[in-house]
This record gives sequence, structure tokens and C-alpha cells, in this order.
Amino acid sequence: MREFWYRVLLRVVLVGACVLTGLIAGSIVFGLALAVGVLLAGSLRDQYEIGRFDHWLNSTVDTALPDGAGQWEFLFAKLARRERNARHLREDLRSRLERMREASRAMPDGTLIMSRDEVIEWLNPMAEQHLGLDGQRDIGSPLLNLLRQPEFANYLQSGDYADPLSMPSPRQPGRTLQIRVVAFGDEQKLLLSRDITQLEKLETMRRDFVANVSHEMKTPLTVIHGFLETLEDALPELPHEQALSFIAMAQQQSVRMQRLVEDLLTLSALETDAPMSEEAVDMRNLLDIVMIETRALSGGRHEVLLELDGPPGALTGCARDLRSALGNLASNAVRYTPDGGRVRLGWTVVDGCGVFSVEDNGIGIDAQHIPRLTERFYRVDRGRSRETGGTGLGLAIVKHVLERHQATLNVVSEPGKGSCFTVRFPARRTLRQAQAVAA
Ligand code: ADP
Repeated sequence: MREFWYRVLLRVVLVGACVLTGLIAGSIVFGLALAVGVLLAGSLRDQYEIGRFDHWLNSTVDTALPDGAGQWEFLFAKLARRERNARHLREDLRSRLERMREASRAMPDGTLIMSRDEVIEWLNPMAEQHLGLDGQRDIGSPLLNLLRQPEFANYLQSGDYADPLSMPSPRQPGRTLQIRVVAFGDEQKLLLSRDITQLEKLETMRRDFVANVSHEMKTPLTVIHGFLETLEDALPELPHEQALSFIAMAQQQSVRMQRLVEDLLTLSALETDAPMSEEAVDMRNLLDIVMIETRALSGGRHEVLLELDGPPGALTGCARDLRSALGNLASNAVRYTPDGGRVRLGWTVVDGCGVFSVEDNGIGIDAQHIPRLTERFYRVDRGRSRETGGTGLGLAIVKHVLERHQATLNVVSEPGKGSCFTVRFPARRTLRQAQAVAA
């Protein structure tokens, strides 16, 4: 402002000087004409600079300001400085915005911003994917015109967002989304979407597992409880033989419970991320143990054979876990093969990979059950599994042990004819005889 008064003063002084010059020259008219001329010249220059300024205003954002002359030079310089600062600010904002966009693109959750009347203002790619929207096309559209699921509409319009909403994905069948809405700013809303399909699956598995374990425990406990009650009430008059048979049956049930708890502990140990022991496991020794145990379980009711294709060598892995997995497969073969049947254990090395197989000519398995056999507590014939002391966890343990050894399980079976379970260990875990001896 000081500059302005300074310029006004300058013009007044200039006009005064012109009039004074006229007076000195003896003609006031000359003095006034001189003053008018000076003012006119100043005005013309102002008009010229205003024209240049107007031209600059109509040009592109990046065009540099004209230099200007006289008082305009001073004004243009000030404007140029302000313009430079504004440009820096714009660039800074642009780079911040770009960083925000990058972060939003990398976000694993969907994010969508709505105006107060639920019109989409912005959304990230994950929200596009979850909600089946198109960022280019749908911005500016009311969200409820595009997502018409009643539960979603009710949730959004209820205004009560204390709890999130779980709903089936509108575009990806079989997937579940969790939707959260947060109100902010001028009645705007932020919608967050998350794919919780896996979480829900795990939660269902956990619930089923707890229900299964409780059920498995309850049956033997009820039996034991019943026998103990009978013994308590009727022991004096109960024939000795009968009392002994009750005790034996209660004992049988307690063994079953013990086996179940042991299998559960084995499973939970396998599921922890604790590193597995890596030792050279002598396969000759391991296969002999498995065969002796299988024969003991069969008690002479089956023909149990071990067929080796050359010296067995060794496997790197955990001896205890391997014994449990291979033993489970062999014991299943005995338990699901009627008396007089045959169980053949085999070990061979194919293309450097150790291959263990258990073949039986037992009851076999219908093809529809095969993909589910390694699920915990999955049984084809519940009665037979119980009768033979099964816990329903054997193949789940096998699956975990094999996963930890990067091995695969293949099942071929035909009802009434028998089954063959084949385990293939990777070549890097298989040591040939010479390597095994050195190890
Ligand atoms: P279980 O303790 O019941 O034997 P597993 O997990 O070891 O549990 O096996 C799951 C189911 O797979 C068994 O209940 C049985 O129905 C079936 N199964 C496993 N091995 C055989 C086999 N060799 N022959 C027939 N069925 C089998």
C-alpha cells in the first residue's frame, strides 16, 4: 500500500512540476497541457500493461509473467513471486496426492468415499474389485444404485455402524466381505471392505473341531461313567466275572480317550511353526519297526509283507514324525482289511525320490471320499473306525508330517477290492545307501 501512495505522490509531483514549468515559461495553458500530456502518457502505458496482463491471464498456467515497466514492473515481480510459491505448493500437493494414491492402491482393504447422499466420490482398486465397481465409470453415481443387496442397503441407511456387516460378495460368488462404514467430515462416509472368506473358513473349522473333539470325548466318558456307577451301586451282588468285564470295558474306553488325546497333541505339535528336527533317518530300520508294529496290530490275522527295491538308504527328516506317518498308513491298511487279507508295505527310489507305499486288499474307499480323507475326524465308516480303535485323526497327522517333509500323498482305491496309499518324498530328502552310510 505504501508503494501505491508513493506512486500517487509521484504523479502529483509530476503534474505540479508541469504546471510550475508552464508558470515559469509564462503560460499556465502550456503548463496544464504538459501535465495532461504526462498523465495521458502514463494512462496509455497503464492500458498497455493491463492488456499484457490480460493476455497473460488468458494464457496457459505455465506461461511466465511479463516483465512490466515502471510501477508495473514492481507489481508483476510481486505477482510472479506469489505465482512461484503457488506453483511449488501445487507441486507439493500433487506429489502428496500421488503418494496417497499409491498407498491406497497398495492397501489390502477396499476404501470408498461417499458424499452425504451416498454418491461415490472416490474409491481404490481393491474396493472396485470387492464391490464390482469401476472407478472411471461409477464416480458420481449413488452407491445404492449400483449395489442393491438388501442387507447392504439396510446397513448403509440405518446409520448405525457400530458393528461391521458380513455379506456375500456381490461379484465373486462363494466369497464373503466384511463392510465397515465410518462417518466423517461434512456427513461424508468412508466405506472399508475386507475379504474375510478365509477367516470365516478358519472360524468354521475351529468350531467344527471343538464340536468334534467334545463329541469324541463324550462317548467314552459316558461309557466309563456308566460302568463306574453300576460298579458303585451293585458291586457286592455283582458276579466277579461281570465286574471284571465292566472294568475291562471301561479300561478300553479310557485307552481310546488316551489315544485321542495323544493324536490331538501330535497334531497340535505338528501345527506349531517350531522348526522340525532334520536327521538322516535309516529307512531299513524305520521300515522294520513299521512292519513289526503292523504285524503286532494284525496279530496274525493278515499276511504282512515288506518289499524293498534295492538297499533302502535314508531320508532326511524327523524320525519320530516319519514313524508316526508311515505307521498310521500301515495300521489303517490292517484295520480296514478283513481277516485273512494281505497288507504289502513297499519302499523304492524312483528318479532319486523315495517312494513308500501301503497296499491292501481290504474294504476300499469310494472315490467321492478320497479328497476328504485327510480332514480331521473325517471317516468313511464311523462304526468301523471306532470298532478298530480309530480316532479319525490318523490321516490328518499323515498330511501334516508329509507337508513338513515336502512329500505328496496319492490314494488309489476301489470299494471291495482294496487301497493303495503312496507317499513320494522329494529327491533332496532321499539319500542313497552310500550317502546314508556316510551320513
Ligand atoms: P481313523 O482313525 O478313522 O482310521 P484316519 O484319519 O486314519 O482315521 O482315516 C480316515 C478314514 O479313511 C477312515 O475312517 C477310513 O474310513 C478311511 N481309510 C483310511 N485308510 C483306509 C484303508 N486302507 N482302507 C479303507 N479305508 C481307509
